[in-house]
Amino acid sequence: AWQLMWFRSDLRTSDNTALSRAAAKGPVIAVFLRSLPQWQGHGHGANKLSFWGRGVEALRDELRGLNIPLLHRDIDDFDDAPETLLAIARVFDIEALHFNREYPLNECRRDEAVTRAFQHQGIRVHAYTDAVAYEPGELLTEQGDFYSVFTPFSRTWHRQMAPERLALHDTPRPQRNTGISNDPLPPLPRLADIPVGSHQWPAGPEAAADRLERFLHYRAHCYQSQRNFPAVDGTSELSPYLALGMISYRQCMQAVLNHNNGSLGEGDAGLVSWVNELVWREFYQHIVVGFPDVCRHRPFQPDTERLRWRNDPDALQAWREGRTGYPIVDAAMRQLTRTGWMHNRLRMITAMFLSKHLLIDWRHGEAFFLRHLVDGEFAANNGGWQWAASTGTDAAPYFRIFNPTTQSQRFDPEGHFIARFVPELSNIDGKRRHAPTPDLLASVDYPAPIVNHQSARQRALDAFKSLKT
Ligand code: FAD
Repeated sequence: AWQLMWFRSDLRTSDNTALSRAAAKGPVIAVFLRSLPQWQGHGHGANKLSFWGRGVEALRDELRGLNIPLLHRDIDDFDDAPETLLAIARVFDIEALHFNREYPLNECRRDEAVTRAFQHQGIRVHAYTDAVAYEPGELLTEQGDFYSVFTPFSRTWHRQMAPERLALHDTPRPQRNTGISNDPLPPLPRLADIPVGSHQWPAGPEAAADRLERFLHYRAHCYQSQRNFPAVDGTSELSPYLALGMISYRQCMQAVLNHNNGSLGEGDAGLVSWVNELVWREFYQHIVVGFPDVCRHRPFQPDTERLRWRNDPDALQAWREGRTGYPIVDAAMRQLTRTGWMHNRLRMITAMFLSKHLLIDWRHGEAFFLRHLVDGEFAANNGGWQWAASTGTDAAPYFRIFNPTTQSQRFDPEGHFIARFVPELSNIDGKRRHAPTPDLLASVDYPAPIVNHQSARQRALDAFKSLKT
């Protein structure tokens, strides 16, 4: 009898809870269900889908070294998952199905349906906590509720941390030859957008481990002071790898423990602050389970549903294309569409600009990010957008509206980042690139600001204040 290991967003063989447990029970067959129409329906675009596909290829190569065959099935819809997996169980004598849990609503429903179908056939199903340290629901407030504010969540996360939560799971030893061949991996069909070059985001655990190593060696110790400067390569750029599980959060935490005298919460300021970001990642994973309405396109704070967002297709398009006349916003949006990634500081600035200065529904921004991000991940993206739009957990209070020009002066002081992505402005003195005056723009093909900061800010304040009446 076989153990069936269902890979999803955990594309690695090392420290993979489900794979490790499955292999301990017997010989393993692996399967991947490519669900392109469903994922596109969720809003993922070419960058993420291409990265995902390349990640599955890297996984197949790793599995080959363990003699674990990888079956591959295309399905349109998550609803097809139970029957597709059962069909495999019928062909091979499957004793149990194993997978690591995913938390957004549709993924949870799919897994429940698969579990029911298998149990109905008398086949055991084992679901594991793998992507996070605590299963959502395990960390609760004194009242027994899910946390809706980050700081107390993080405090409890640290307080209850025990070494076994971070212990790495064994990579299975190579099994005997199975005689089952790998399925061919079909190429990605033509999509509306062309993905960025694969050299920008090499997929797989090896590439992820290289990045982690580089981060620890060159960036981690200055992370706290450098992480907000987009012109500096100051962060790990591990987000796409974490989102698809090409590296596990435990591997990241173990690296911190090794470089920080066994501590996650004290010691090297850079490493401690990096751990904090990984806890943010986990916080949002818990939010989607505790407050599943956020998976239904609803704001976390229900009263903000009444907000009168503006319908302004031209402004939305200018934002998407990086033509708002605010150089830092435009540079950021062009970074997103050209590289499939955007620096965190800039995600905050651009998200706030769309939702506050343009007063355009954050859900348009959320969707546009997901379409282009190689690290597009529902929980973090939704959490980030709702934070910026002041509709979410911990949300920025509505009256805290970033001034894009001051943000630019503070976090890109020499204008280097702007020059990289808005080359039209590269001949203007660095310090004047943040808000070029009309005389400087006379000979440059670059738009004047599409909104005035002060009046746009007031318009947003008024819209939010009107919710209180
Ligand atoms: P590092 O600074 O090296 O951080 C390490 C890891 O911690 C990241 O790889 C990521 O997994 C996690 N992390 C860091 N910051 C956050 C955060 N604020 N929230 C949740 N997790 C975090 N992150 C995504 O992974 N996918 C998204 O789709 C996504 N969309 C976002 C949208 C908006 C509007 C905002 C404000 C933030 C979004 N983030 C998202 C969070 C954050 O911007 C990225 O995780 C980060 O920029 C990735 O770069 P890095 O790997 O170098 O991060």
